[in-house]
Amino acid sequence: AKNSGRNNFQFFTEQMNAIVQRQMRLISVLSGALERGQFLLKYQPQIALRTGKMIGVEALLRWQSPELGDISPNEFIPVAESAGLIIAISDWVLMEACLQGKQWLDQGLTGLRVAVNLSAVQFQQPHLAEKVRQALAATGFPAELLELEITESIMMSDKNAIITLLDELKALGTQISIDDFGTGYSSLSYLKRLPIDRVKIDQSFVRDVVIDPNDAAIVTAIIAMTHGLNLEVIAEGVETQAQLEFLLSKGCYYAQGYHFSKPVGEQTIPALWHSGFAV
Ligand code: C2E
Ligand code: CA
Ligand code: CA
Ligand code: CA
Repeated sequence: AKNSGRNNFQFFTEQMNAIVQRQMRLISVLSGALERGQFLLKYQPQIALRTGKMIGVEALLRWQSPELGDISPNEFIPVAESAGLIIAISDWVLMEACLQGKQWLDQGLTGLRVAVNLSAVQFQQPHLAEKVRQALAATGFPAELLELEITESIMMSDKNAIITLLDELKALGTQISIDDFGTGYSSLSYLKRLPIDRVKIDQSFVRDVVIDPNDAAIVTAIIAMTHGLNLEVIAEGVETQAQLEFLLSKGCYYAQGYHFSKPVGEQTIPALWHSGFAV
């Protein structure tokens, strides 16, 4: 027993070393990625289900690392957050998305909204609204076409400070949505206090919505609640016609997911905008 205890410990430290080493390698390569131009944005269409028209896109960050290959944002964004790199990266994302949005607007994609994901770390910075204002001013992208996606995790810090920041963002004229809705904590109590326009139903509820009665109940309840609060609701992770029909039958009229399109390069968006989607 003594020996196996030591072996377990040895195994544990080896695993820890591997994790720590991967993290340190990530941080060291990630810290030069921005200036080396290794980031790019992909855009995933959001569709109005009653017309098949594209209403907007979500900008999703991609990192093509020559050293490590393609790495999921689910892996590198938490690293960027803890290493203090997320602010510079997020500034780039915001500027790039607004620039692209303005280009589409100039190409005649009138009314196409661009959604950008915000990190909770950005809400610890007092000048968030000023940065957004500057990105809009510098690019000429209209505020009402910019959507900022936040998660419930931002409510972990000082709630009044967060609400003040959100009010500032809203005062600029941007739209605000709650991402991954239903997965965070205390979803309901603050919802009516926040100046938000839209709720995104998390894909974990959408995935099994036609086979799992619990997920069906949750999705139905979220849709009813958003209507009661006069909020728009959009489902993410829609992959099948059956999911889409379920959503429509419950009064959710907007969706995003592989059923329509994966995230694509900016050059693909105009054709999708003009052709629309079969619904
Ligand atoms: P998210 O904001 O919840 O984004 C949705 C994720 O689901 C994206 O993964 C998207 O590619 C994926 N997805 C879309 N449709 C489907 C579908 O039908 N089925 C399935 N299984 N997945 C689908 P992605 O691009 O890998 O991004 C992962 C996460 O990384 C995002 O989750 C977001 O939290 C974060 N992220 C991405 N870009 C940014 C960014 O610019 N800034 C920040 N702070 N976070 C970002
Ligand atoms: Ca998102
Ligand atoms: Ca999401
Ligand atoms: Ca997510």
